[in-house]
Amino acid sequence: MSQQPGQLTFVAPRRAKPARHLADLTMAERRAAVAELGEKPFRADQLSRHYFSHLTADVAAMSDLPAAAREKLSALLPPLLTSVRELSTDQGTTRKTLWRLFDGALVESVLMRYPDRVTMCVSSQAGCGMNCPFCATGQAGLTRNMSTAEIVEQVVSGARALAAGEVPGGPGRVSNIVFMGMGEPMANYKQVIGAVRRFVEPAPDGLGISARGVTVSTVGLVPAIGKLADEGLPVTLALSLHAPDDELRDTLVPINTRWKVAEVLDAAWAYAAKTKRRISIEYALIKDINDQEWRADLLGKLVKNKLVHVNLIPLNPTPGSKWTASRPEDERAFVRRLQFHGVPVTVRDTRGREIDGACGQLAAAE
Ligand code: SAH
Repeated sequence: MSQQPGQLTFVAPRRAKPARHLADLTMAERRAAVAELGEKPFRADQLSRHYFSHLTADVAAMSDLPAAAREKLSALLPPLLTSVRELSTDQGTTRKTLWRLFDGALVESVLMRYPDRVTMCVSSQAGCGMNCPFCATGQAGLTRNMSTAEIVEQVVSGARALAAGEVPGGPGRVSNIVFMGMGEPMANYKQVIGAVRRFVEPAPDGLGISARGVTVSTVGLVPAIGKLADEGLPVTLALSLHAPDDELRDTLVPINTRWKVAEVLDAAWAYAAKTKRRISIEYALIKDINDQEWRADLLGKLVKNKLVHVNLIPLNPTPGSKWTASRPEDERAFVRRLQFHGVPVTVRDTRGREIDGACGQLAAAE
């Protein structure tokens, strides 16, 4: 399903839902679900420890559970993701996985190991309804929302590979999670918040990853940003700005026709004030489109003296795109203008490009 230019899809098409999974549930809900299956509620804690601490979903390996209980409890660990393809680069330290969901929908996740951290980039929707013309996922439209457990499983799978020493560098753990794969996380709010809770809750409730290591990236759904600020989850908010002026942003990030630059920045500053977390402004540099010095100046004026960091991303051209990354000298000038305003700025590395695992490239082509 492709979209008309500027068309926005907020509501996912109605589809059959994936099976209920342990990771969809709070601990209280898990105890109730276990009781419904005719088992003692404390089995929920055991099952959760296997899943979130030992990263095991195979009930046959759960030797502390009686055989009859294993059989019943396996209903809470249905397989949700099937790996269709794995691509790796950087000597195996960057790995992209294409997943098939129960209904055939395809999504991707990427694991990136650095000397000091492991970041997983996860998808929150199959496809995306936000229709940004430079983004590969945006071109395909929205297939459906992912469930909390489908989102969590991407990370559990990466964590399992790391724990097993399958990623070069020795056994390791996931330290950072970014919602920068397919989809607009704030358009699948409830399921995404559920996943964030599973990420940050300590075992046996969840994976026990620091909230500071979790980044939710959004085109700027203003009411959802307000809601997120009230969740008491100090995750990092990344705002995909890409233009400092409404005229250009209306075309690059079509949600801007609904909420303007000034409104979305106000929502971001309110988020920073409430959570004390630095806002990450994402800005893909597109040659001769948004990379002029006057735009850097305008951006600098809009964000100076705020709790902010600007992340410049050299555009990854999508197949058939008329756009390309900025010239090196224009990129340097853009950085200098922002620095002139005292704005912290970095240029993001383009890891995973060769395997289409870089930002905005997750299109799940099969
Ligand atoms: N929907 C969310 C999260 C997914 S995209 C959002 O838009 O923030 C993650 C980041 O990659 C966003 O900042 C997005 O604008 C950026 N991106 C998308 N396509 C890109 C491309 N072709 N080149 C560089 N960055 C891109």
